[in-house]
Parts: sequence; structure tokens; C-alpha cells
Amino acid sequence: MSFKGEYQIANLEERLPNNEVRCNLSPRNCKMKEGQLGFCGVRGNRDGRLVTYTFGKGVHLTEELIETEAIYHFAPGAKILSLGNIGCNLNCQYCQNWKTSQAKFVEDKDVHSFTPESIIETALRHDIRVLSWTYNDPVVWHEFVIATAKLAKKAGIYNLYKSACFITEEALDELLPHIDIFSVSIKAIDEAYYRKLTTGWLQPVLNATKKIYKAGKHLEVSNLMITDVSDNEQSARNMTGWVLENLGPEVPLHFVRFHPEYRMRDTVRTPIDRLEKAQAIAKEMGMQHVYLGNVANSEATSSFCNSCGSKLVHRFGLAAHLESLQDDATCAKCGKAAHFNALDLKNKSAVVMQPDKEFRRHDYDWRGDIISLHVQAKNPSDQPASIYYRAKNAELDYWKEIAMAPGESYRFILAKSNEKDTGLEIALPDYIVSNLFEVFDRAHFPTISIEEGVSENDRTALPKFEGKQIPDKLKLSLAEPKS
Ligand code: SF4
Repeated sequence: MSFKGEYQIANLEERLPNNEVRCNLSPRNCKMKEGQLGFCGVRGNRDGRLVTYTFGKGVHLTEELIETEAIYHFAPGAKILSLGNIGCNLNCQYCQNWKTSQAKFVEDKDVHSFTPESIIETALRHDIRVLSWTYNDPVVWHEFVIATAKLAKKAGIYNLYKSACFITEEALDELLPHIDIFSVSIKAIDEAYYRKLTTGWLQPVLNATKKIYKAGKHLEVSNLMITDVSDNEQSARNMTGWVLENLGPEVPLHFVRFHPEYRMRDTVRTPIDRLEKAQAIAKEMGMQHVYLGNVANSEATSSFCNSCGSKLVHRFGLAAHLESLQDDATCAKCGKAAHFNALDLKNKSAVVMQPDKEFRRHDYDWRGDIISLHVQAKNPSDQPASIYYRAKNAELDYWKEIAMAPGESYRFILAKSNEKDTGLEIALPDYIVSNLFEVFDRAHFPTISIEEGVSENDRTALPKFEGKQIPDKLKLSLAEPKS
């Protein structure tokens, strides 16, 4: 299926003389002649009208956990249905999803079709109460996000929007009524960084983030710290200072570990001591909830009461376990408010059963920094089927079940949730078609399965970008601390 085969009239169209159109969805405001595409490659001018080519088209939907999205203070541990589009209005030089975010690299095999109704039906069938618009930036999926989010709301399902928020004010006005939770990625408080590494610019991102905060939405901010570029102390001070001045000290702030990818492969993952330094700086400056992302370590990722220091939520990797946090979002030890939302949203426990001894097995051992997997499975039969999984852990010897409807194709994440887990076992009927995908970091959508190829290291996923890497002198010029 070529994703450019079908299209529909898009929102935020400005019709111009000579059959030209302008798109007012993102601050690029692309002006297009008949037949041209915008920068994102998924919106264009057809017969003098602005159209979107990706309504109902995206990558495979995937069940994940809310922690995948750098959201720690809304329904910890909740299952989400992650929905990723194709195309993007940015072109970040380190994008971990470049294979699907840059329209020119998208392959038909990675494009799937949905309707708003089919997404809601899948979410409800799997007992999922949060839709997450994620992976590639959802800005360019605007019309489909809004159409589906409206239906979700009617069905009692929340909408989470994970974005770099390079969006116009008028587009955000259309979006805001439909989204409950925003995970905003601010790359750096540095115009030169935005221009050179993202192809976007800073002010629209800051304006959008302030507007989301003022609208009273659940908001968490994350900052990817790029090795030797934006992982210095001044960068952490600038980010924290901006959040304190323009949002508030209660907004959770996540400093996120980077892995080498796309045009920035010739480097290493962010050293953890630099992330820890950033966390300490933000706390010293007055932020109340500061976390590290893409780091399994439970101390840096767990939530503690700011008044008495009790552990409220224990986290390891993507797993969250409530400790002293009460249903009314206060600390059980001292009674102080802890800034959490939607604590009534509890997952039904996965059914614990034994798989049939004859079932086919996948056996996977965690390696290095890779501590989660996507499992993609298709049930070609006209009968319901089940897939079973369990951690390889001498202290935990039970299987959990994922139920699949007849004909269903489903993708879900499984993650290391304990220091003692060494890997995973998956058991499934022979007729289920299945593939495993190594997930390198949160919100990474891998396109190459283990069966097709495995990266020789735990730093850069397959496929590796074959074009030019960015020059070192550019990285160095951006790494100069700016006060
Ligand atoms: S959404 Fe796409 S077409 Fe519209 S302004 Fe942004 S890059 Fe251009």
C-alpha cells in the first residue's frame, strides 16, 4: 500500500491565488503549488486544496505502558495503546524513529490502516484506557488525532500527546479540547541547537508548552541530553530555569538518556553521571519531581514524597509499583499532596495460566541497555487465541496471558521489571505468526525484527542510516555552555 494513494482535505488550509495553498498546522507554514508536498512529506496541494495523505495510516498499533511516554504522574503503570504516524514536521539529526518519521524512507510494509472506530474497539477489547499519540511527532497526524480523540473521550478513554510541540497556536487551539495529557519534549533552551539539529526553531515550542500549562492539562516535560552536545550542567540549568519561570516547580521534569542514531551514530550513550548531575541541579534549583529516562535505576526513576521522603512509586525500567501513594494522591505516611492524577485507573491483572506444552517458544535474554521488546503477532485463525509470557527469573515462575481476537494483528511491549530478570519466555500456538523487535529506548518504534537481523551492539538499532553523519565541529559548537 502506498500511503500517498488516498487523501482527504486537511484542516488549517489557507487558499491562495494561482491554486496555491498554505498549511498553517506547523510554524513552517509551507506554501505549496499544485502537486507539491510540504516539508513533512505527508501533506500537500491537490487541485488547489490542502490535503493530508495519512488520515488513518500509521505504523502498527502497540500496547505499552504509560511510563514509555515520560509520564510518571498520571495513572502510574497504566497500559496505553501507542499510535504512531508516518512523516514529521521536524528532521532531528538523532531521531530514533527516522525510518518512519522521514516520509522518504517509509516502506509500505511498515504502514497500516485504521479507522477511529477500529482503534477504540481495540483499546476497549484489551482493557486500555489511554490512547497515546507518539513515536513520530503526532503534529502532522492532526485530523486523525482529533477525530479519534473525540470518539475516545465518548468511550471514557484518555488521550496522551507526546510531542516536540512545533505547532502553530491555531492548530493547538483545535487540539487542546481533545487531549488530556501532554508529554512535551523540549530539546534545549537554545535557538542555535533547534536550527541546526532539529531544523525547527525554539519559540513556537515554548509558546505551545506555556499554553498547554495555562490550559490546566496534565503536563510533563522531558529533555533528551545528547552526549557532548546538551548534557552539560549549563544546559540543565537553562532547562530548569525556563520551567521554573514559565510553568511551575510541580511539573515533572525528565532528563532522558540518548542513544546514537540516524546522523549522530559516531558517539556513545549519554554518560549516566551527567544525567545524575542534571537531576541534582534541577532539584537544587527547586523542581519537585525530577527523573531520569532510559535509565533502569530505581532511585533515579522512582517518586518520593517531597515532605517526608517516603517512596511513593517504585520504578524499575518501565515497571511501576505503587508504595506510599494513596488513591487520593497524597502520601500515606505524612498526608501531603503528591501531584498525581487518575490513580483510579487500574489495569485488570493479566490472567495467569499455563500455556500448552506443545506451544512454540521464543526465548530472549536481555543484553546491555536493551531491556524491552515489542512482540508482534497475528492470529490468522477464525478462533480466539492466546499468547503467554513470563520473566526468566528464578523467583517468579508464572505465565501471563495476552488474548487475541480472530484475525487480529497485535503488538505489545514486554520489559525487564526487576534486577533479577535475565530475559523472557514467550509461548504461543504454532499457527500464530510472530516476530520480536528489540526496543532500544522509550518511544522507539523498531522496524527490523530479530528474525531479520540483530544490531551488533546495544547502542544503535537496525537499520543503520547509510547517509552522511553530521560533522564533529557542529556538535562541538553546540556543546559550548551558554548561560
Ligand atoms: S505540517 Fe507539513 S505541510 Fe504543514 S506546515 Fe508543517 S511541514 Fe509544512
